[in-house]
Amino acid sequence: SSIWSDVPMGPPDAILGVSEAFKRCTDSNKMNLGVGAYRDDQGKPFVLPCVREAEAQIQAELVDHEYLGITGLPAFTQAAAKLAFADAGNVIADGRNVTTQAISGTGALRIGSAYLNAFSGGRTVFLPRPSWGNHNPIFTHGGNKIDNFAYYDKNTCGFDAAGCYDELRNKVPNGSVVVFHACAHNPTGVDPLPEQWKELSAICKEKDFLVFFDMAYQGFASGSVDQDAFAVRQFVDDGHNILLSQSFSKNMGLYGQRTGAFTVVCKDSEEAARVESQIKILIRPMYSNPPAHGARIASKILNDPNLNAQFSGDVKGMADRIISMRTQLKAGIESRGNPHNWDHITNQIGMFCFTGLSPEQVAKLTADHHVYLTKDGRISVAGISSKNVDYLANAIHEVTK
Ligand code: PLP
Repeated sequence: SSIWSDVPMGPPDAILGVSEAFKRCTDSNKMNLGVGAYRDDQGKPFVLPCVREAEAQIQAELVDHEYLGITGLPAFTQAAAKLAFADAGNVIADGRNVTTQAISGTGALRIGSAYLNAFSGGRTVFLPRPSWGNHNPIFTHGGNKIDNFAYYDKNTCGFDAAGCYDELRNKVPNGSVVVFHACAHNPTGVDPLPEQWKELSAICKEKDFLVFFDMAYQGFASGSVDQDAFAVRQFVDDGHNILLSQSFSKNMGLYGQRTGAFTVVCKDSEEAARVESQIKILIRPMYSNPPAHGARIASKILNDPNLNAQFSGDVKGMADRIISMRTQLKAGIESRGNPHNWDHITNQIGMFCFTGLSPEQVAKLTADHHVYLTKDGRISVAGISSKNVDYLANAIHEVTK
């Protein structure tokens, strides 16, 4: 017998399970709308032209492969903070941000959860309902207590503003940690409007919440990195000393390079120095120091005016293609005389669309039409192309008419 004979088989990851079922399918019309990675209009993985150019420059520089410091590449972390905050709240000018490189957005959240566990005095972390499927495990793994607050309205497939305000005011205890998706909420594609963000900021002030923004899609929602940073900058301008996780997986397409950042906004630079010292102590035993290549690419792009301009265009190109797929999908369903309202397809934003399909309709979409998606009815709009959007519209019509 083996020491591991009693190790139980764990359940498969929900999204990887969708990809595996897709791979096994032999139908030529099959579509994989499960995975959250951008595809071009040929359905192929996409390397941003600005990334190709940055890589060529790095290659020519014959860089070495020494270790980075515990908090990563300074030229990268400074540029990442600037991309998020610009001059909001004078955070950067006053040296109030502690920004460390992280193993992409997931790693940034994981450092954040370890930091909260160590220094927040056991505050519960409240997540939107629903939230990204990995939030709960990340914060639990980091030792935090988890709860949630109303966010999504099933009836409108939109933001449940009244329910959200009410639960934040009346259910969530003062001083709790509240997590928001900065833009392009995953899985719902539903973001508060600017006025609603202002209201949320005011409520969070009243209740003395510690706000943790997860920004995994900056630029991907609207096509503009500045517009997508609205909520983060508003909260900071309103005086919230937020926590922030940033990912460059989606907006720079650096998925496998694990390029991200974690920031704690502090009261002043003296506090920032103390916080930074503790973040280094948390990171060191977890992974010692982060990988360099992705940070070098992102740093080149963000710090070089030409590459940065190209980046803006590249991100806008991806966001525009997604928006155009949303428009075509909605039109395709409606043109078939479908009796339901599909406005949410174009009202929602970012990579994902919460279609509102029931688990039975999802099962039928997969069984009859070879369209693969998660049971909650979420589709990755980035996985649709001009070649198959009409096929998908027809399939959705057939399972909902
Ligand atoms: N946060 C949200 C809401 C996400 O959707 C994702 C990716 O799907 C991430 C964080 C982290 O992704 P990564 O670790 O690739 O940066």
